[in-house]
Amino acid sequence: MKPGALAYFKPTTVTEAIGLLVEGGMDAKVIAGGQSLVPMLNLRMVAAERLVDVGGIAEMKQWSADDREIWIGACVTHDQIQIGEVADPSNGLMPKVASKIAYQAVRNRGTIGGSLSLADPAADWLTTTAALGATIEWEGPDGKKSCPAEEFVFAAYTTQLDISDVLTGVRIPRLPPDATWGTYKLCRKAGEFAHAMAMVISAGARSRAFLGATDGAPIRLMQTEKLVADFRNWESGHAALVSQALEADIAESGRDFTDIQLWQSRTCLLRSIQMSLGFEPVRPEGV
Ligand SMILES: Cc1cc2nc3c(=O)[nH]c(=O)nc-3n(C[C@H](O)[C@H](O)[C@H](O)COP(=O)(O)OP(=O)(O)OC[C@H]3O[C@@H](n4cnc5c(N)ncnc54)[C@H](O)[C@@H]3O)c2cc1C
Repeated sequence: MKPGALAYFKPTTVTEAIGLLVEGGMDAKVIAGGQSLVPMLNLRMVAAERLVDVGGIAEMKQWSADDREIWIGACVTHDQIQIGEVADPSNGLMPKVASKIAYQAVRNRGTIGGSLSLADPAADWLTTTAALGATIEWEGPDGKKSCPAEEFVFAAYTTQLDISDVLTGVRIPRLPPDATWGTYKLCRKAGEFAHAMAMVISAGARSRAFLGATDGAPIRLMQTEKLVADFRNWESGHAALVSQALEADIAESGRDFTDIQLWQSRTCLLRSIQMSLGFEPVRPEGV
């Protein structure tokens, strides 16, 4: 199938894009890399009478860096991050994550802003930006807004963006040089969206741990973070402690997990922690 008739606009400024979106109201959609939107339009899962292509807005394709943070424009592609064309604030985490998104063809065109705006719960950048303590920035008819990445998503495919808003960029603090990370996602086949995902970042006495690919926003694992902050090595008793902390974190989140989802998330989390400690992930008992 092909989409219904639609008008296509390619503005060169964010202000112009917002104007076109306001004019089009509910019938207008932003298009960036088109990797998710075009299939949804083709399948008539999404209807639009007007597409506003933000790919012509120069500032949204740029990035900048200082000693404290990196700003990445929303139209920077997964591939640019994968190949290191963009400065890396994350000691290698972001290029690694980018390299595991879909297939090369999708990475060539798919953008970090498109991925965050769509807010598919399994999108890698949702969990990664939350784990890195990033800030998401957007602009709309009411002006510029921003929020911590971990507060950006309300539910699956539902974010703080209003219908005429444009996500403009992501601000990511630099990790300390000695910070370590581990991440693991479970997919049935390479290039597929994950069924479960975990990410752990350890910087000195502080750790951040998140689960992704859930039923909605990534889940921050506060109990697990406290536990992991004390780990210096991977020891055999750690798996049981992590499992207890994970179950407490999931109960605290109020989110529903089936037994298999819990098992998959636990596997991803254990492997992420082991990786962050510099160990090759060990297969946990029963996995
Ligand atoms: C086969 C396949 C496998 C995939 N596997 C993975 C995977 O493993 N992990 C993963 O993370 N992703 C995966 N993806 C998704 C991919 O990363 C997409 O690139 C991404 O979800 C959307 O980015 P895009 O730039 O193509 O956005 P588009 O498809 O152009 O837009 C997506 C949505 O976001 C909105 N939007 C886009 N940009 C903006 C903006 N700047 N401001 C406001 N709204 C905006 C659009 O209106 C649309 O609703 C996969 C996609 C495919 C096709």
